[in-house]
Amino acid sequence: MLDKRNFYINGAWVAPQAGTDFDVINPSTEEPYAVISLGGQADTDAAIFAAKEAFKSWAQSSKSERIELMESILEVYMRRSDEMGETISQEMGAPIDMSRTSQSGTGSYHIQGFIESLKSFEFERDLRPDTPNDKIIYEPIGVCGLITPWNWPMNQIALKVMPALATGCTMVLKPSEQSPLSGVLFADILHEAGVPAGVFNMLNGDGPGVGSSLSAHKDLDMISFTGSSRAGTLISKSAADTIKRVSLELGGKGANIIFADAGENAVAQGVARCFNNTGQSCNAPTRMLVERSRYDQAVQEAVAQAEKTAVNLADRDGKHIGPLVSKMQYDKVQGLIEAGIKEDGAKLVAGGIGRPEGMNRGYFVRPTVFADCTNDMRIMREEIFGPVLGMMPFDTEEEAIAIANDTDYGLTNYIQTTNGEKARRVARQLRSGMVDINGKARSARSPFGGMKQSGNGREGGVWGLEEFCEVKAIGGWPND
Ligand code: NAD
Repeated sequence: MLDKRNFYINGAWVAPQAGTDFDVINPSTEEPYAVISLGGQADTDAAIFAAKEAFKSWAQSSKSERIELMESILEVYMRRSDEMGETISQEMGAPIDMSRTSQSGTGSYHIQGFIESLKSFEFERDLRPDTPNDKIIYEPIGVCGLITPWNWPMNQIALKVMPALATGCTMVLKPSEQSPLSGVLFADILHEAGVPAGVFNMLNGDGPGVGSSLSAHKDLDMISFTGSSRAGTLISKSAADTIKRVSLELGGKGANIIFADAGENAVAQGVARCFNNTGQSCNAPTRMLVERSRYDQAVQEAVAQAEKTAVNLADRDGKHIGPLVSKMQYDKVQGLIEAGIKEDGAKLVAGGIGRPEGMNRGYFVRPTVFADCTNDMRIMREEIFGPVLGMMPFDTEEEAIAIANDTDYGLTNYIQTTNGEKARRVARQLRSGMVDINGKARSARSPFGGMKQSGNGREGGVWGLEEFCEVKAIGGWPND
């Protein structure tokens, strides 16, 4: 068993003061292979104290100093990128090839992105050309608690740590206890890159322990959280007494609107996108709405795509999907597939309950498609977080928009049509933080975030930097 119990506090690896052991389990084999410690209040206090002390000097660091440090982090990260991919694959089950490229790659992508955004970010601005004695200053908000999930661990960690560093904040990171080893490796990378002691601290813990100690702590100025809407609500309540800023990136139930004039591969691509990372993406297009004239054919195409989706152990090379992260997620997804069949009465056309044929251990599920859904079904309302797609027909553009918007969530919606005017019209009416038209990815440094119960934060680009800033307005600014 790997021993990864120590925490990274004030520039050094230290033994927990109030920790309890917690096994890290390989989801492909269900075997524990590492042990971490879940910290207690004393550990949280020590990490926050270190960050608070370090804020005094790091808040005063220059932009060029921070850019230099971030470039050094990028250099070390790139060197250790494969190691990161292997670590993520083992801890949360992403297939190894995909983990070395996509999972690990999100880390370097965001480090690079924030270096570029910082270069052009103006921390001191004039209010307007006609107000020479007004200055607007963007200052670091202070000491930040960063709480991240397991599904895209480096994506979330880099999206929080880098803008916090870039704006002069100091921080305590608590990665998910389900995928803690990538967080440990990331701390090691930051140490090797020469991050000053106390600026970045990392400790492991669970939600009720370190998670809630962070959100309630009086010495933190901000919590940046990515995870479930359930935990987002608890964090907001627990942070309320100290009026700290709470930035939330939560779940989703994205609609993929496929018009009759969509490109030939729109359905197959939509299914693949839904199943990517074994369906464990907040922005997965999990509700496929298809214009009626194309619906029957679309169901057949979706079934074909599901049936050719290979499922295999995470350490196997090649293109397949891996297991879900944990027993808890496995049970939840199985329960929702069962609810789709028995409670909702949806038409199961691919996959179903249980493991794929020939697999008798590991948290593997069958790529599953339900047809003839209605938008009030549980499987169309709840975030399943597994490779499960729900399909339903629509008749008019207005109806498609209404169904897409009829959800508690509002993260990413998808439009497939070859009619540009229609695409623009629909995109403007979708109530989500992001819209993806015809599978074209958003560009680097575009803001990521949601509306409604998908949260209130924006990560990436200048928006990601502004999240970690306070705005100070000064009148009477002398210009002599
Ligand atoms: P989760 O909410 O269970 O846990 C996320 C993190 O919060 C973990 O570190 C956990 O320990 C911590 N936590 C749990 N309860 C807490 C509490 N009461 N107080 C403080 N911290 C607490 O979520 P998960 O299962 O790890 O991740 C999956 C969820 O994350 C999905 O809902 C997914 O949609 C969402 N997600 C959202 C985005 C986004 O950017 N919008 C990105 C990735 C994942």
